[in-house]
Amino acid sequence: MKLTEHFKLEEFTHSTTASRLKINNSVPTDLMPNIQLTAIKLEFVRKALGQPIIITSGYRCPALNARVGGVSTSAHTKGLAVDFHSSFGSPKQICQRLIDAGVQFDKLIQEHNQWVHIGFSPTYNRQQVLTAVKQGGKTIYLNGLV
Ligand SMILES: [Zn+2]
Repeated sequence: MKLTEHFKLEEFTHSTTASRLKINNSVPTDLMPNIQLTAIKLEFVRKALGQPIIITSGYRCPALNARVGGVSTSAHTKGLAVDFHSSFGSPKQICQRLIDAGVQFDKLIQEHNQWVHIGFSPTYNRQQVLTAVKQGGKTIYLNGLV
């Protein structure tokens, strides 16, 4: 199902973990407006990068979120966040470009130099920028791009 010019619903629900564990990761009807909003916001991300983005994790139903170790309040469970990468460049370069281009987001996280997490709010986008790093086996979040 096509949501916007470049994004399909399947890109938000696809999960190798869900497939492997036979978890039904389809989006509940009441969360579809959030998914639609995220797809619209991601068009701006794509435009700022001038490159396609590859979503590695979009919507996560509570069962899937628990299995991948996400916090229970994760914006992924509301359909308001995606993890992605892009041939544009490294996660840090992607984040910097989105900031420079004035792209709206609630939370932007450069995750372990491996992927970018971007979350949106239907009401107020805080433009919060964080960098996730491992410290003593635990993930901690530093302010800004590190
Ligand atoms: Zn994420």
